Amino acid sequence: MRQLKCDYCHREIPEDDIHFELKLELYASAELPELTEEDLKKDHTAEIEALIEAMQEMDAEELTDEVYECYVFTLCAECRHEIHNRLKHNKEKKHPI
Ligand SMILES: [Zn+2]
Repeated sequence: MRQLKCDYCHREIPEDDIHFELKLELYASAELPELTEEDLKKDHTAEIEALIEAMQEMDAEELTDEVYECYVFTLCAECRHEIHNRLKHNKEKKHPI
């Protein structure tokens, strides 16, 4: 069996120790900004052209990452506890994670 390593503190996790997995998903909110009547009447050709131009300069991986990213981290019990505390108590702070 492969030796497990904690992705947070990089310590090896002994085989008979419990380990945890932290799954992190980062994606664009499905909620779209509200459109006003004025927005609908506006000519968006220039904006769309600028957007297409910007997208052409990005590679496919970058574009996909902007839509959805998912990471799974292996954690030892200690780091799990640390992250648990941060998530639980830092929600109001500027950098909660
Ligand atoms: Zn750890």
